[in-house]
Amino acid sequence: MLSARKAVQQVPAYHPPLAGREGLRLDFNENTVGCSPRVLERLRSLGAEHLAKYPEREPVEGVIADFLGVGAGEVLLTNGVDEAIHLLCQTYLEPGDEALIVVPTYSMYRIYAMAAGSEVVSVEMGVNFSFPAEAVRERISGRTRLIAIANPNNPTGSVVSWNELQAIAHGAPEAAVLVDEAYFEFCGQTLLDMRREYPNLFVARTFSKAYGMAGLRVGVLVGDTEQMRALRRVSSPYSVNAVALACLPDAIGDREYLESYVRDVLEARSRLENWLADSGIPYWPSQANFVLTRVGTSSADSAEFVERMRSRCVLVRDRSSDPGCLGCVRITVGLREQTDRLLVALQATFEEMSQGASRV
Ligand code: PMP
Repeated sequence: MLSARKAVQQVPAYHPPLAGREGLRLDFNENTVGCSPRVLERLRSLGAEHLAKYPEREPVEGVIADFLGVGAGEVLLTNGVDEAIHLLCQTYLEPGDEALIVVPTYSMYRIYAMAAGSEVVSVEMGVNFSFPAEAVRERISGRTRLIAIANPNNPTGSVVSWNELQAIAHGAPEAAVLVDEAYFEFCGQTLLDMRREYPNLFVARTFSKAYGMAGLRVGVLVGDTEQMRALRRVSSPYSVNAVALACLPDAIGDREYLESYVRDVLEARSRLENWLADSGIPYWPSQANFVLTRVGTSSADSAEFVERMRSRCVLVRDRSSDPGCLGCVRITVGLREQTDRLLVALQATFEEMSQGASRV
Protein backbone atom coordinates (compact mmCIF):
# COMPACT_ATOMS: atom_id res chain seq x y z
CA MET A 1 0.00 0.00 0.00
CA LEU A 2 1.17 3.46 -0.75
CA SER A 3 2.15 5.39 2.34
CA ALA A 4 3.49 8.86 2.91
CA ARG A 5 7.06 9.31 4.15
CA LYS A 6 7.42 8.73 7.91
CA ALA A 7 8.24 12.38 8.45
CA VAL A 8 5.06 13.43 6.67
CA GLN A 9 2.96 11.03 8.71
CA GLN A 10 4.15 12.79 11.84
CA VAL A 11 3.25 16.28 10.68
CA PRO A 12 0.22 17.53 12.62
CA ALA A 13 -2.71 18.47 10.39
CA TYR A 14 -3.21 22.21 10.30
CA HIS A 15 -6.79 23.34 9.73
CA PRO A 16 -7.10 27.10 10.09
CA PRO A 17 -10.75 27.88 10.98
CA LEU A 18 -11.64 29.46 7.65
CA ALA A 19 -15.24 28.28 7.42
CA GLY A 20 -18.18 30.54 8.16
CA ARG A 21 -16.27 33.80 8.43
CA GLU A 22 -19.22 36.15 8.10
CA GLY A 23 -18.83 39.23 10.23
CA LEU A 24 -15.99 41.51 11.26
CA ARG A 25 -12.83 39.54 10.36
CA LEU A 26 -10.50 40.06 13.31
CA ASP A 27 -9.27 36.47 13.34
CA PHE A 28 -6.53 36.13 10.67
CA ASN A 29 -4.53 39.39 10.89
CA GLU A 30 -5.68 40.31 7.41
CA ASN A 31 -6.27 43.84 6.21
CA THR A 32 -9.83 44.42 7.42
CA VAL A 33 -11.00 46.54 4.48
CA GLY A 34 -9.12 45.29 1.43
CA CYS A 35 -6.40 46.30 -0.96
CA SER A 36 -5.66 49.58 -2.73
CA PRO A 37 -8.28 50.63 -5.30
CA ARG A 38 -5.45 50.70 -7.84
CA VAL A 39 -5.07 46.94 -7.45
CA LEU A 40 -8.78 46.45 -8.08
CA GLU A 41 -8.56 48.61 -11.18
CA ARG A 42 -5.69 46.46 -12.48
CA LEU A 43 -7.68 43.29 -11.77
CA ARG A 44 -10.58 44.58 -13.84
CA SER A 45 -8.28 45.41 -16.74
CA LEU A 46 -6.90 41.88 -17.12
CA GLY A 47 -8.13 39.87 -20.08
CA ALA A 48 -8.06 36.28 -21.32
CA GLU A 49 -4.62 36.71 -22.89
CA HIS A 50 -3.18 37.52 -19.50
CA LEU A 51 -4.52 34.32 -17.98
CA ALA A 52 -3.59 32.19 -20.99
CA LYS A 53 0.11 32.90 -20.56
CA TYR A 54 2.44 31.36 -17.98
CA PRO A 55 3.39 34.03 -15.47
CA GLU A 56 6.77 35.72 -15.80
CA ARG A 57 8.12 36.41 -12.35
CA GLU A 58 11.47 38.01 -13.09
CA PRO A 59 10.45 41.49 -14.29
CA VAL A 60 8.29 41.96 -11.21
CA GLU A 61 11.14 40.75 -9.03
CA GLY A 62 13.16 43.63 -10.47
CA VAL A 63 10.41 46.07 -9.48
CA ILE A 64 10.24 44.65 -5.96
CA ALA A 65 14.02 44.67 -5.62
CA ASP A 66 14.07 48.41 -6.44
CA PHE A 67 11.24 48.99 -4.00
CA LEU A 68 13.14 47.21 -1.23
CA GLY A 69 16.47 48.77 -2.21
CA VAL A 70 18.18 45.42 -2.82
CA GLY A 71 19.68 43.70 -5.87
CA ALA A 72 17.43 41.73 -8.24
CA GLY A 73 19.42 38.56 -7.57
CA GLU A 74 18.72 38.86 -3.86
CA VAL A 75 14.95 38.64 -4.32
CA LEU A 76 12.60 35.72 -4.81
CA LEU A 77 8.87 36.27 -5.12
CA THR A 78 6.96 33.43 -3.50
CA ASN A 79 3.44 32.12 -3.14
CA GLY A 80 3.09 33.87 0.19
CA VAL A 81 5.69 33.72 2.94
CA ASP A 82 4.45 30.17 3.46
CA GLU A 83 6.16 29.10 0.26
CA ALA A 84 9.34 30.91 1.32
CA ILE A 85 9.37 28.89 4.57
CA HIS A 86 8.73 25.71 2.61
CA LEU A 87 11.55 26.44 0.17
CA LEU A 88 14.01 27.19 2.98
CA CYS A 89 13.16 23.86 4.61
CA GLN A 90 13.50 22.01 1.28
CA THR A 91 16.80 23.71 0.51
CA TYR A 92 18.62 23.45 3.82
CA LEU A 93 17.17 20.67 5.96
CA GLU A 94 18.38 17.10 5.71
CA PRO A 95 16.55 14.40 7.69
CA GLY A 96 17.91 14.51 11.23
CA ASP A 97 18.97 18.17 11.08
CA GLU A 98 17.56 20.55 13.64
CA ALA A 99 15.23 23.48 13.02
CA LEU A 100 15.09 25.91 15.90
CA ILE A 101 12.00 27.99 16.66
CA VAL A 102 10.93 30.18 19.56
CA VAL A 103 7.40 29.43 20.72
CA PRO A 104 4.65 30.46 20.68
CA THR A 105 5.06 31.42 17.04
CA TYR A 106 3.68 30.94 13.54
CA SER A 107 2.73 27.27 12.96
CA MET A 108 4.15 26.74 9.49
CA TYR A 109 7.81 26.77 10.59
CA ARG A 110 7.22 23.57 12.55
CA ILE A 111 5.07 21.98 9.87
CA TYR A 112 7.45 22.44 6.94
CA ALA A 113 10.52 21.61 9.04
CA MET A 114 8.90 18.37 10.20
CA ALA A 115 7.85 17.51 6.67
CA ALA A 116 11.48 17.84 5.61
CA GLY A 117 12.33 15.19 8.21
CA SER A 118 14.16 17.48 10.59
CA GLU A 119 13.86 17.63 14.34
CA VAL A 120 12.14 20.75 15.61
CA VAL A 121 13.80 22.30 18.66
CA SER A 122 11.32 24.62 20.38
CA VAL A 123 12.63 27.21 22.82
CA GLU A 124 9.90 28.74 24.98
CA MET A 125 9.74 32.49 25.34
CA GLY A 126 10.48 33.95 28.76
CA VAL A 127 8.21 35.76 31.19
CA ASN A 128 5.72 37.97 29.35
CA PHE A 129 6.98 36.53 26.07
CA SER A 130 10.38 38.13 26.41
CA PHE A 131 12.83 36.81 23.84
CA PRO A 132 14.95 34.01 25.35
CA ALA A 133 18.18 35.12 23.67
CA GLU A 134 20.49 33.14 25.89
CA ALA A 135 18.43 29.93 25.65
CA VAL A 136 18.35 30.25 21.86
CA ARG A 137 22.11 30.66 21.65
CA GLU A 138 22.58 27.69 23.98
CA ARG A 139 20.35 25.46 21.86
CA ILE A 140 22.22 26.14 18.64
CA SER A 141 24.12 22.95 17.87
CA GLY A 142 26.26 21.55 15.09
CA ARG A 143 23.02 20.14 13.62
CA THR A 144 21.06 23.41 13.60
CA ARG A 145 20.39 24.21 9.95
CA LEU A 146 17.36 26.49 10.19
CA ILE A 147 16.33 29.13 12.71
CA ALA A 148 12.99 30.82 12.07
CA ILE A 149 11.94 33.91 13.97
CA ALA A 150 8.87 36.02 13.25
CA ASN A 151 9.59 39.66 13.96
CA PRO A 152 7.12 41.00 15.08
CA ASN A 153 6.07 37.62 16.35
CA ASN A 154 2.66 36.04 15.83
CA PRO A 155 0.68 35.62 18.12
CA THR A 156 2.50 37.74 20.75
CA GLY A 157 3.13 40.93 18.77
CA SER A 158 6.58 41.15 20.38
CA VAL A 159 9.82 42.12 18.63
CA VAL A 160 13.42 41.03 19.01
CA SER A 161 16.18 43.61 18.93
CA TRP A 162 18.56 43.86 15.98
CA ASN A 163 21.47 43.00 18.22
CA GLU A 164 19.95 39.74 19.36
CA LEU A 165 19.02 38.69 15.82
CA GLN A 166 22.47 39.55 14.56
CA ALA A 167 24.05 37.58 17.40
CA ILE A 168 21.98 34.57 16.34
CA ALA A 169 22.93 34.90 12.66
CA HIS A 170 26.56 35.33 13.71
CA GLY A 171 26.46 32.37 16.10
CA ALA A 172 24.96 29.93 13.59
CA PRO A 173 26.79 30.49 10.29
CA GLU A 174 25.76 27.05 9.04
CA ALA A 175 22.08 27.62 9.66
CA ALA A 176 19.66 29.52 7.45
CA VAL A 177 18.30 32.25 9.71
CA LEU A 178 14.86 33.42 8.62
CA VAL A 179 13.63 36.71 10.01
CA ASP A 180 9.97 36.70 9.03
CA GLU A 181 8.85 40.32 8.76
CA ALA A 182 5.26 39.57 7.72
CA TYR A 183 4.08 42.44 9.97
CA PHE A 184 6.90 44.85 9.07
CA GLU A 185 4.60 47.67 7.94
CA PHE A 186 3.07 47.99 11.42
CA CYS A 187 6.42 48.12 13.17
CA GLY A 188 8.99 49.61 10.82
CA GLN A 189 11.94 47.61 12.15
CA THR A 190 13.80 45.54 9.58
CA LEU A 191 16.95 43.49 9.36
CA LEU A 192 17.13 43.93 5.59
CA ASP A 193 20.13 46.25 5.80
CA MET A 194 22.15 43.58 7.61
CA ARG A 195 21.78 40.96 4.89
CA ARG A 196 25.16 41.60 3.28
CA GLU A 197 26.95 41.03 6.59
CA TYR A 198 25.35 37.63 7.14
CA PRO A 199 25.13 35.41 4.05
CA ASN A 200 23.00 32.97 6.09
CA LEU A 201 20.34 35.61 6.83
CA PHE A 202 16.98 35.68 5.00
CA VAL A 203 14.27 38.29 5.39
CA ALA A 204 10.67 37.58 4.35
CA ARG A 205 7.87 40.05 3.70
CA THR A 206 4.28 39.49 2.67
CA PHE A 207 1.54 41.25 0.77
CA SER A 208 -1.10 39.35 2.76
CA LYS A 209 -1.33 41.68 5.74
CA ALA A 210 -1.03 45.46 5.43
CA TYR A 211 -1.45 45.33 1.63
CA GLY A 212 -4.71 43.39 1.87
CA MET A 213 -3.92 40.68 -0.68
CA ALA A 214 -3.89 37.44 1.34
CA GLY A 215 -6.08 35.83 -1.32
CA LEU A 216 -3.60 36.61 -4.10
CA ARG A 217 -0.76 34.81 -2.27
CA VAL A 218 2.40 36.86 -2.71
CA GLY A 219 5.41 37.10 -0.50
CA VAL A 220 9.02 37.96 -1.01
CA LEU A 221 12.20 36.41 0.32
CA VAL A 222 15.47 38.34 0.36
CA GLY A 223 18.86 36.78 0.93
CA ASP A 224 22.39 36.33 -0.32
CA THR A 225 22.51 36.03 -4.13
CA GLU A 226 24.35 32.71 -4.03
CA GLN A 227 21.83 31.22 -1.59
CA MET A 228 18.90 32.52 -3.60
CA ARG A 229 20.18 30.59 -6.62
CA ALA A 230 19.84 27.38 -4.61
CA LEU A 231 16.32 28.31 -3.50
CA ARG A 232 15.31 29.01 -7.10
CA ARG A 233 16.29 25.47 -8.05
CA VAL A 234 13.59 24.00 -5.82
CA SER A 235 10.96 26.66 -6.53
CA SER A 236 8.38 26.30 -9.27
CA PRO A 237 9.03 29.12 -11.78
CA TYR A 238 5.26 29.67 -11.85
CA SER A 239 4.45 29.64 -8.14
CA VAL A 240 3.33 33.26 -8.15
CA ASN A 241 0.32 33.54 -10.43
CA ALA A 242 -0.13 36.00 -13.28
CA VAL A 243 -2.88 37.98 -11.56
CA ALA A 244 -0.77 38.53 -8.45
CA LEU A 245 2.24 39.56 -10.56
CA ALA A 246 0.13 42.04 -12.52
CA CYS A 247 -1.20 43.63 -9.33
CA LEU A 248 2.00 43.86 -7.34
CA PRO A 249 3.46 47.03 -8.92
CA ASP A 250 0.14 48.81 -8.31
CA ALA A 251 0.07 47.65 -4.71
CA ILE A 252 3.53 49.01 -3.92
CA GLY A 253 2.87 52.10 -6.03
CA ASP A 254 0.01 53.27 -3.83
CA ARG A 255 2.04 54.41 -0.83
CA GLU A 256 -0.69 56.75 0.28
CA TYR A 257 -3.16 53.90 0.68
CA LEU A 258 -0.72 51.81 2.69
CA GLU A 259 0.39 54.67 4.92
CA SER A 260 -3.12 55.72 5.70
CA TYR A 261 -4.22 52.14 6.49
CA VAL A 262 -1.23 51.55 8.76
CA ARG A 263 -1.75 54.91 10.52
CA ASP A 264 -5.38 54.04 11.23
CA VAL A 265 -4.50 50.57 12.50
CA LEU A 266 -1.82 51.92 14.84
CA GLU A 267 -4.29 54.43 16.25
CA ALA A 268 -6.90 51.70 16.73
CA ARG A 269 -4.30 49.41 18.31
CA SER A 270 -3.57 52.04 21.00
CA ARG A 271 -7.28 52.42 21.57
CA LEU A 272 -7.76 48.68 22.01
CA GLU A 273 -4.71 48.38 24.29
CA ASN A 274 -5.88 51.32 26.42
CA TRP A 275 -9.35 49.82 26.67
CA LEU A 276 -7.92 46.48 27.83
CA ALA A 277 -5.64 48.24 30.35
CA ASP A 278 -8.51 50.35 31.71
CA SER A 279 -10.68 47.23 32.01
CA GLY A 280 -7.95 45.34 33.89
CA ILE A 281 -7.68 42.65 31.21
CA PRO A 282 -4.15 41.30 30.69
CA TYR A 283 -2.67 41.83 27.23
CA TRP A 284 0.77 42.03 25.65
CA PRO A 285 1.76 45.32 23.98
CA SER A 286 1.96 44.65 20.26
CA GLN A 287 4.10 45.92 17.38
CA ALA A 288 1.82 44.30 14.81
CA ASN A 289 -1.81 44.59 13.65
CA PHE A 290 -3.17 42.34 16.40
CA VAL A 291 -3.20 42.09 20.18
CA LEU A 292 -2.95 38.95 22.29
CA THR A 293 -5.08 39.13 25.41
CA ARG A 294 -5.88 36.75 28.25
CA VAL A 295 -9.65 36.47 28.56
CA GLY A 296 -9.79 33.58 31.05
CA THR A 297 -7.81 30.87 32.75
CA SER A 298 -8.63 27.84 30.61
CA SER A 299 -9.13 26.78 27.02
CA ALA A 300 -12.85 26.48 27.82
CA ASP A 301 -12.87 30.20 28.75
CA SER A 302 -11.19 31.31 25.54
CA ALA A 303 -13.42 29.01 23.44
CA GLU A 304 -16.51 30.43 25.09
CA PHE A 305 -15.22 33.95 24.59
CA VAL A 306 -14.63 33.38 20.86
CA GLU A 307 -18.14 31.92 20.48
CA ARG A 308 -19.77 34.80 22.32
CA MET A 309 -17.88 37.28 20.14
CA ARG A 310 -18.93 35.34 17.04
CA SER A 311 -22.58 35.59 18.14
CA ARG A 312 -22.01 39.38 17.94
CA CYS A 313 -20.54 38.94 14.45
CA VAL A 314 -16.99 39.69 15.54
CA LEU A 315 -14.45 36.97 14.70
CA VAL A 316 -11.38 36.62 16.92
CA ARG A 317 -8.91 33.74 17.20
CA ASP A 318 -8.54 31.32 20.07
CA ARG A 319 -4.81 30.87 20.83
CA SER A 320 -5.23 28.85 24.00
CA SER A 321 -3.42 25.81 22.62
CA ASP A 322 -0.23 27.78 21.88
CA PRO A 323 2.56 27.38 24.46
CA GLY A 324 2.10 29.88 27.30
CA CYS A 325 -1.22 31.13 25.89
CA LEU A 326 -3.79 29.33 28.02
CA GLY A 327 -7.01 31.36 28.07
CA CYS A 328 -5.73 33.74 25.37
CA VAL A 329 -7.31 35.09 22.22
CA ARG A 330 -5.73 37.11 19.44
CA ILE A 331 -7.62 40.10 18.11
CA THR A 332 -6.72 41.66 14.77
CA VAL A 333 -6.90 45.45 14.71
CA GLY A 334 -8.93 47.18 12.02
CA LEU A 335 -10.08 50.74 11.37
CA ARG A 336 -11.78 53.21 13.70
CA GLU A 337 -15.41 52.21 13.10
CA GLN A 338 -14.47 48.55 13.25
CA THR A 339 -12.80 49.20 16.59
CA ASP A 340 -15.97 50.91 17.83
CA ARG A 341 -17.82 47.70 17.00
CA LEU A 342 -15.10 45.56 18.55
CA LEU A 343 -15.11 47.47 21.84
CA VAL A 344 -18.91 47.25 22.13
CA ALA A 345 -18.74 43.49 21.55
CA LEU A 346 -15.84 43.09 24.01
CA GLN A 347 -17.67 45.02 26.71
CA ALA A 348 -20.82 42.94 26.33
CA THR A 349 -18.90 39.66 26.17
CA PHE A 350 -16.83 40.36 29.28
CA GLU A 351 -19.95 41.45 31.15
CA GLU A 352 -21.76 38.28 30.17
CA MET A 353 -18.84 36.06 31.11
CA SER A 354 -18.27 37.72 34.46
CA GLN A 355 -21.95 37.25 35.28
CA GLY A 356 -21.56 33.56 34.45
CA ALA A 357 -24.45 33.87 32.01
CA SER A 358 -25.81 30.68 30.50
CA ARG A 359 -23.17 28.91 28.44
CA VAL A 360 -23.26 29.07 24.66
N1 PMP B 1 4.51 34.63 8.77
C1 PMP B 1 3.80 35.02 9.83
C2 PMP B 1 4.50 35.43 11.06
C3 PMP B 1 2.39 35.03 9.75
O1 PMP B 1 1.67 35.41 10.80
C4 PMP B 1 1.76 34.65 8.54
C5 PMP B 1 0.27 34.65 8.37
N2 PMP B 1 -0.50 34.35 9.43
C6 PMP B 1 2.56 34.24 7.50
C7 PMP B 1 3.93 34.25 7.62
C8 PMP B 1 1.95 33.76 6.20
O2 PMP B 1 1.96 34.76 5.29
P1 PMP B 1 1.54 34.52 3.78
O3 PMP B 1 0.11 34.82 3.66
O4 PMP B 1 2.43 35.50 3.04
O5 PMP B 1 1.87 33.11 3.43
